[in-house]
Amino acid sequence: MAARWAEALLKLQTVDLRIRELETRLALLPKEMGTLKDKRDAAVAEVAAAANAAKKIELDRRHVESEIEKLNAENKKLQQQSSMVKKNTEYQAMLGTIALNEKKIGDLESRVLELMDEFEEAKKAYRKLKQNNEAAVNAIRAEFDELVAFAGDLKKEIAQLKAERPADVCGVDNETLARYNRLLAGKDGVPPLVKVENEICGSCHLRVTRQAMTNMQKGAVTSCENCMHFIYLDDAE
Ligand SMILES: [Zn+2]
Repeated sequence: MAARWAEALLKLQTVDLRIRELETRLALLPKEMGTLKDKRDAAVAEVAAAANAAKKIELDRRHVESEIEKLNAENKKLQQQSSMVKKNTEYQAMLGTIALNEKKIGDLESRVLELMDEFEEAKKAYRKLKQNNEAAVNAIRAEFDELVAFAGDLKKEIAQLKAERPADVCGVDNETLARYNRLLAGKDGVPPLVKVENEICGSCHLRVTRQAMTNMQKGAVTSCENCMHFIYLDDAE
């Protein structure tokens, strides 16, 4: 057993360090959740992009088909007009335009077939991506739900520890408590109260003074003169 004051302070410190650990873990969760949301959004956007790509091919095909219709209509009109034309040059010019349009129609019809193939490919790619990404999104959602549950557990434990803390504070005198709180808030992350082993301070790792050793052996509240952390001896020492 350590000295009575050290026992009381150790009990409090165990609670405070656990609270700190839980709060640190809790603070990391929003970023982890944000990463999951980003992943989900990316997966959803990828599927939407694939759907749009297929839609665009379909629109291109319709556009080409309307071009073909226009050319066919023009040729029909030219054929009707040509029967009424008297001048041979004019007649030849009309036949020339009709032949040119027919060539264009032939090219556009090939383009329609190409676009139909492209559309089938795009549709296949879209379906595959949709299936894969839906599975990914479901996995992400499950992971997200786990984090939400974990955050709830952490908050619950923190609240419980904080509710129990006043009872542990009771065993520590006010002056010691004030200094302890300052050390706890310090940025070094080292617990305020550390054990001395082989006369070495557990915080700064320097040899404690003879005076400090004597104080500890008497059971008095003692600090390391170098790093100012509270120090105590275990009876086993
Ligand atoms: Zn020290």
